[in-house]
Amino acid sequence: MAIKITSSDKLFSQYIRTRDKWTCQRCGKKYEPPTNALHCSHFHTRGKWGVRFDDENCEALCYGCHSYLGGNPIEHVEHKINKLGYAKYKKLQQRSHKPLKSGEKKYFLSKEFRAKLRKKLKKVEEKWLNDK
Ligand SMILES: [Zn+2]
Repeated sequence: MAIKITSSDKLFSQYIRTRDKWTCQRCGKKYEPPTNALHCSHFHTRGKWGVRFDDENCEALCYGCHSYLGGNPIEHVEHKINKLGYAKYKKLQQRSHKPLKSGEKKYFLSKEFRAKLRKKLKKVEEKWLNDK
């Protein structure tokens, strides 16, 4: 199933990778933006709109770790539980099953949502530059 990558997705990916300081959350390798070698990995796929733009559903992973975890679902779950803790992992799972409220999908694709993302991106960008 091919999922269209929207401008909101692109911005969110930039946000997640910056939040994670352009560092792979599995192997710890650091990257220098701009790069496509570090991905914004969705634990529950983008097809699950309820968690498509969910901070806890996403993390920066290098190409190698992304495909490794993609092919090893049990380790992927273990990795996720290690990162979030079991309670947050379970809550994320519940959120992933929740259907979208009416208008919510439209909101995710709106300029207002992207403006909000840009604000979040600016914040994590400052933090990343400060810690560098
Ligand atoms: Zn990695």
